[in-house]
Amino acid sequence: MKKSVISIFIFAVNVMLLVSACGNESDLSPTTTSGTTTSTTTTTANATTSLEIFKKIYGATEVYLEGNYAIIKTNGLPDHKSPYYKDTQWATAKYEAYNGTNTKFALNPNRIASQSLVFKIPINPTKASSTSATPLGPIGVSLNGVPFFNQYAAMNAPLTNEVNGFDQYNGHPQQQGQYHYHVEPTYLTAQKGKDALLGFLLDGFPVYGPLEKGKTVTNSDLDGFHGHTHATTEYPNGIYHYHITDADPYINGNGFYGTAGTVSK
Ligand SMILES: [Zn+2]
Ligand SMILES: [Zn+2]
Repeated sequence: MKKSVISIFIFAVNVMLLVSACGNESDLSPTTTSGTTTSTTTTTANATTSLEIFKKIYGATEVYLEGNYAIIKTNGLPDHKSPYYKDTQWATAKYEAYNGTNTKFALNPNRIASQSLVFKIPINPTKASSTSATPLGPIGVSLNGVPFFNQYAAMNAPLTNEVNGFDQYNGHPQQQGQYHYHVEPTYLTAQKGKDALLGFLLDGFPVYGPLEKGKTVTNSDLDGFHGHTHATTEYPNGIYHYHITDADPYINGNGFYGTAGTVSK
């Protein structure tokens, strides 16, 4: 009896070792990063996102409203160049060798592939009474249709090594070729401005860039979920919103501030 318990334990340890030995980011199943935490933040103004605002996601193949949700469909292909377009059907137009500033840059073995992502995002985002951690894989969608990922690599490891695979626009593809941003999408901030609306997380709260009223936003300006509440260009009556900063956790902190919608792949 005791012996079989021990052998099950050894088996489990071996499985864990095997999985972690895969090394490369799996980003596949939406596993939860940690347990639920209860938010103690004070109430915020309710705001509704109009179809017009959702249509700022110019990279989407379709954007429409369905009940209390916006449906956003995207193929996830970045509209900017990338070294990860090498050897793909888009290479002629979109391949660009790495020309960024990271001397440790190393191209990962993955190449960009077309996706069929469907985001279902609440148009009336509300603070969750019990907030949930963000999963691995897409946690939101940026203006060009490329998904946002959280601050972890596979097995919820920190991004320490992964950052060296980020291309000159701060993105990279995972094993299935799904290109994504864990940090500031510099192509978008160059095009739209560092203070611009850059996308939405699955809970429907908007994501803004690292600049606000001419000041760089730091993690200390934000709560544990990586946001705060005030009026913005798109929401003159005020809304809770996330900011992307240049330090870990970059886009989101302890999970979704609101009740998350869904994403299907
Ligand atoms: Zn990644
Ligand atoms: Zn703000």
